[in-house]
Amino acid sequence: MDTNTKFGLPKNVVHCKRCLMTNQKPFSTNESKSKIDSKKDSLVFNQEGVCAACIYNDEKKNINWEERELLLEEMLSKHRKTNGSYDCIISGSGGKDSQFQAHILKNKYNMHPLTVTYSPIIYTDVGTRNLRNWINVGGFDNYLFSPNGQVTSILTKEAFTNLLHPIQPFKFGIKTFAAKMAIKHEIDLIIYGEPYAEYGSSEKKQTDDAKYDLDWLVNDNEINIAGLSPNELKKKYQWIQDYDLNPYIPLKSKDIEESNLSVEFLGWYLKWDPQEIYYYAAKKSGFEVDDQRTDSTYGRYTGTDDKFEWLHFYCQYIKFGIGRCRFDASQEIRNGHITREEGILLCRKFEGNIPDRYLKDCFEFMNIDEKDAWHIIDKFRPDHLWEKRNGEWDLIQELPEIKKI
Ligand SMILES: [Zn+2]
Repeated sequence: MDTNTKFGLPKNVVHCKRCLMTNQKPFSTNESKSKIDSKKDSLVFNQEGVCAACIYNDEKKNINWEERELLLEEMLSKHRKTNGSYDCIISGSGGKDSQFQAHILKNKYNMHPLTVTYSPIIYTDVGTRNLRNWINVGGFDNYLFSPNGQVTSILTKEAFTNLLHPIQPFKFGIKTFAAKMAIKHEIDLIIYGEPYAEYGSSEKKQTDDAKYDLDWLVNDNEINIAGLSPNELKKKYQWIQDYDLNPYIPLKSKDIEESNLSVEFLGWYLKWDPQEIYYYAAKKSGFEVDDQRTDSTYGRYTGTDDKFEWLHFYCQYIKFGIGRCRFDASQEIRNGHITREEGILLCRKFEGNIPDRYLKDCFEFMNIDEKDAWHIIDKFRPDHLWEKRNGEWDLIQELPEIKKI
């Protein structure tokens, strides 16, 4: 791999022959180990130019889902409690996935889930309504944790400035919150939704196993939040105390060793189709779609609970040349809901459009002047992806069919 590029991504962009993903898509990592200059591994392709996510999708067609459901029953029966205490944790904001998981586990598989929510950075109106729907229509007990807003503002700003990844600290929080709650309430099962393999993990382990790797929750060594160590943060913002950073600190190995915690992906056991999940959540748990199309894409029901989601996807477009429309369209192509040609037309229309709706709210929350924010954004455009032509930024390795010019 040519590592001269900004994030260590391949210099030549390869577009999947089946979906619209490219080899610039980095994998999720244990972000607490991520520094400002960390390099990333990205989506792999086979000899025929097909991406790992599409290949996983082919493999999914051969999965015996009835057999998988039996395995689910077997796994759940090890954890199910009949004495009234909670037997599993579902973590979520009240979006369609978390609503689906909690509802099906309770009503079809006779579990007693505790739902926990690590608050989005800025809840949208529809997101707030969906959290209430989850609790009131779905019928669940819920703990909502909202971290200190002053600290969140600083960490979000640092993550935006240092990594162009404003939601990185939030992701830390959300990841460990469920585990911390599980340990506190002595619940030994956490259930996540979509397996990472859906997005093309390179590790065989992730397609062959329903279990989430607990190492991802753990960091015994140096921790970086928003690209900075806790000491650097405290030096820069002297009012920040150690305890202010607690929600963002990963678990230690001994926390895991002392517990019987296991984390499983429901999407490994049950066939995971976002559209079907949306129908289910709307019907059974009161899930509401947004009242308008999401900027930069065409849907109204994915990732609509946090105003920062909009900015987050735009940042991905800047850093990797992969925008929100491309994510949505690629997934729908894989699930057979649209053709690649339709995906191309959608991308031509929406990919990379500036998500105006909540940008001001995000910049204000981070206390960043709009002009400075754009300056920061432009700094993160990798040379191998972007070129300025006649005063306009051009995504130079984009598929010609998608280019608007
Ligand atoms: Zn693909």
